[in-house]
Amino acid sequence: MPDIYCVFGNPIAHSRSPAIHAAFAASTGEDLLYTARLAPVDGFAAAVAAFVAEGGRGANVTVPFKEEAFRLCDELTPRAARAGAVNTLSFVAGRILGDNTDGAGLVADIAGNLGFALSGRRILLLGAGGAARGVIEPLLAGAPAALSIANRSADKAEALAAAFSDIAAVDAGNFAKMAGKSFDLVINATSASLSGDSLPLPPGIFAPGALAYDMMYGKGETPFLKLAREQGAARCADGLGMLVGQAAEAFAVWRGVRPATGPVLAMLRAALSG
Ligand code: NDP
Repeated sequence: MPDIYCVFGNPIAHSRSPAIHAAFAASTGEDLLYTARLAPVDGFAAAVAAFVAEGGRGANVTVPFKEEAFRLCDELTPRAARAGAVNTLSFVAGRILGDNTDGAGLVADIAGNLGFALSGRRILLLGAGGAARGVIEPLLAGAPAALSIANRSADKAEALAAAFSDIAAVDAGNFAKMAGKSFDLVINATSASLSGDSLPLPPGIFAPGALAYDMMYGKGETPFLKLAREQGAARCADGLGMLVGQAAEAFAVWRGVRPATGPVLAMLRAALSG
C-alpha cells in the first residue's frame, strides 16, 4: 500500500498539486498516492481528522485554510510560526506538525530557476496577506539591500513590517508611498490578478534590469505583469515555479528526498500553454 497524502482546499478541483507530486514520486521512486480533497469551508478540522483516521501521512493546505491549519497544529517549524500560516502538515504519532514551504519555494524559483540573486537587491513586496507574510523571512535571509512592503490597506503593510522589525527595518505603506523609489525586484503577492485588477503603482518603481514576479500563475500575462512590461521591467515571471518549488520542499519534508523541479515545471508550463 502506498503512503497517502493530499491537498485540502476550497475550491480544489483545478489544483496542480496531485500531478506535481505524482511526478515527484515517479522521479524519486517513492511509493505514495497524493489526491486533492475538497474540505467544507466550515469543516477543515473534521476533514483533516478523517484523513488521519484513514492513515494519511501528510497534507498540503491551500486557500482558504492556511491560517486555520496553523491553529490546528500541535507543533510548528520556526518558519511556519513566523509566517502565521501552514501549507504543509505531517501526521506523526498522533500529533500534527505544521510547516510553511511557500517562502522556500519562492526563493528557489527566483534565485535558482530565474538566476536572480537576492543579495544586495532592493525588493518591493506588494500585498500583506498570508502569501506575503510567508515569504518575508526567506527573502530577508537572502540579504537584500532593502525590503519594502506596499499594500492597498496601508495599516496591514505597516503591521507586517512591525512583525519583522527584529530582523530588519522594513519600509511599509500604501502603493502611493513607494513613489520616487525604484526596486530591482517587485513581487506581486496580492490576489488582485485573480480578479483581473491592476494595481495603482507609481511610475518609475522598476529599476533598470528589474525582475517583476507575480505569484499568480496560469492566467497568461496578468495586469501586474503587463504594467511591469510597459513600465520597463527587464524580466517578468509568473508564480508557477513557486508552486513547484513549495511542493518540492513539502515532498522533502515528508520523504527526506528532494525531487528535481525542472522537468515538472516544464511539464506544467507545456500543459498550461497547450
Ligand atoms: P490573502 O487573501 O491573504 O491576501 C490578499 C492580498 O491581496 C491582501 O494584501 C489584499 O489587500 C490584496 N488585494 C486583494 N485584492 C486586491 C485588489 N483588487 N487590489 C489591490 N490589492 C488587493 O491572499 P494570499 O496572500 O493567500 O494570496 C495572494 C496571492 O498569492 C493569490 O493570488 C494566490 O493565488 C497567490 N499565491 C501563489 C502561490 C504560488 O505557489 N504561486 C502560493 C501562495 C499564494 P488588502 O489587505 O487591502 O485587502
